[in-house]
Amino acid sequence: MSKKLVSCRTAPILCISQNARPEIGSRSRAPQFTIPTVRSEPRRTESPLATGAIETIWREAAARIGFAVTRTAEAYATSDGRGLIAIGTDDLLDADDAFAQLLFHEICHAITEGQQAVASPDWGLDNVPSHRVREHACLRLGAVLAGRFGLRAAMAPTTEYRAYYDGLGSDPLAPAPPAAEPDPAIAIAAAAVVRFEASAWRGPIEDGLARTAALALRRHPLGFPLGPANETCGSCAWIYRGGRGTPVERCRQSAPAIGDGGRVSAAFGACVRWEPPVDCRTCGACCREAYHSVTISVRDPVVWKEPDLIVRQGHRFEIRREGTRCAALIVDPPAKSQPGYSCSIYDSRPKPCRDFAAGGRHCVEARRRVGLSAGAR
Ligand code: SF4
Ligand code: SF4
Repeated sequence: MSKKLVSCRTAPILCISQNARPEIGSRSRAPQFTIPTVRSEPRRTESPLATGAIETIWREAAARIGFAVTRTAEAYATSDGRGLIAIGTDDLLDADDAFAQLLFHEICHAITEGQQAVASPDWGLDNVPSHRVREHACLRLGAVLAGRFGLRAAMAPTTEYRAYYDGLGSDPLAPAPPAAEPDPAIAIAAAAVVRFEASAWRGPIEDGLARTAALALRRHPLGFPLGPANETCGSCAWIYRGGRGTPVERCRQSAPAIGDGGRVSAAFGACVRWEPPVDCRTCGACCREAYHSVTISVRDPVVWKEPDLIVRQGHRFEIRREGTRCAALIVDPPAKSQPGYSCSIYDSRPKPCRDFAAGGRHCVEARRRVGLSAGAR
């Protein structure tokens, strides 16, 4: 098979006979692909994606965006322009190939070429020099999407384009160092990323990548070890919507000291830092030793409503402390190993307390400081 030497859609491998396109969903009319016969290199390391479970994930992802997928002994990877993608059978592929990687690559081609190309066989691409840049753009897009889930290496092409893919920097939309020539593929890939982000394909594909990462890497897409098998990011205390531009689902646990957490999806399997939604009544961390004081404005109504709880520290006012905790915190019952917590001035609590969001940045930090939540101290 010559796929190591030529593009994924070099004519001798991938051309579909235009007179014999398969019907979508039909298994009775075999695609009339040219048969690849020569393997150019010995088999290499087995792909971590070459499992039946991961193939199922990608069949489901393809179905959700409207593609039927078949296996064929007559082509490496191809599409018929009618909604059918054909991926080579296992005996046709090398060990370092995988159904998931090939299908993901075809989907990246579809995104890169845009909606009009979905109705064209092989996304309107031929193995002509002018289409090399389209292949490069597709690879850059694939590196962006797969990289978000730690799958960049696993989704690498095994064709002659491998060197180009491996030469991409940490940002696949930046010029590959050293950038001798401007790469026109960058602008095409960047536009494809924008198109993907706004498309209905995003959910199914990101779900597919996340589930693939969990199976292949045994890690959450954000890099954390896997957590409870029956939970998801969607049921976790630390998922939130935010970030620049259109808010998207993110993980508070992965957030740096300044800035937003990594992007997640509610459908992702839980990581080891998963927690059920926080309950202030069993936590109290932010009112205990996690923070040393609550500084309040002189104009805050709590100053005159709760004068016995106010102390002056130079030019500042604070809520008085009792030991390591806020004097307004009620611990009930104090002697039990699992006490409950409540605020004695809840209705007139000062603005810093009103602004303090359960599940927010400072909440996770407070819980880490008292040992209730995992993460950096
Ligand atoms: S901490 Fe929660 S939201 Fe973040 S990755 Fe883990 S399960 Fe998902
Ligand atoms: S806001 Fe967060 S840290 Fe404070 S009591 Fe509630 S759960 Fe605990």
